[in-house]
Amino acid sequence: MAVESWKKLLVTAALAVVVTLVVYNLYGRTTGNNRLHKRTVEVSMKTIYLVPIGDIDKVIIEDIAPEVAEIYSTDYKIVDKPLDIPKDAYNKDREQYLARSFLETLKELPESKKGLVIGIADVDIYTPELNFLFGLAEMGSSVCVMSVTRLRPEFYGNNKPDHKVLIKRSVTESVHELGHVVGLAHCPNPACVMFFSNSRADTDYKGKHFCDECAQLVRKGMSE
Ligand SMILES: [Zn+2]
Ligand SMILES: [Zn+2]
Repeated sequence: MAVESWKKLLVTAALAVVVTLVVYNLYGRTTGNNRLHKRTVEVSMKTIYLVPIGDIDKVIIEDIAPEVAEIYSTDYKIVDKPLDIPKDAYNKDREQYLARSFLETLKELPESKKGLVIGIADVDIYTPELNFLFGLAEMGSSVCVMSVTRLRPEFYGNNKPDHKVLIKRSVTESVHELGHVVGLAHCPNPACVMFFSNSRADTDYKGKHFCDECAQLVRKGMSE
């Protein structure tokens, strides 16, 4: 009799352990999922809209879009209809286009109210204080612009066109300009994408990734 009781007790104890484990596991898994879900939503709230400006090869935009969106852990849409280059943008003396006027036009798009907007052009852009620009953003707005013209290897000397190099640089500069839109300033770390590029060599060196500090600011900016 005593042996039977022990057996019953052992079975009951074993069952209790199993039930506890199952409940714990279910609970643990549910809270884990919730946490993961919340984190995904936090960084995915702002869609990136890529807007072709003027005469630009659509393949460039199609190739950079998924890489840029991946860095920001968000989704993207390529706007179908290219935006006309603003009439007043061209400066005859400089033979360049005023980047700020692109921003003004981008701000008028309905997409600028819905998410982050990056205009992509293939003309030489400038701002009065500098010889040229790879891109320009207005902090506190939702728009920025980027030009692929000076990211092309063939822009310099006798270099041959190289689509891969062009895409790599374009991804870096797009991530950089969108970083300003999300609220980031320039970063002193030359290996961080938010470092200010004075030349294409700077762009090639830094690459498309944020340093840890900037990555934290991006997560904050994307969830605000
Ligand atoms: Zn910058
Ligand atoms: Zn940084």
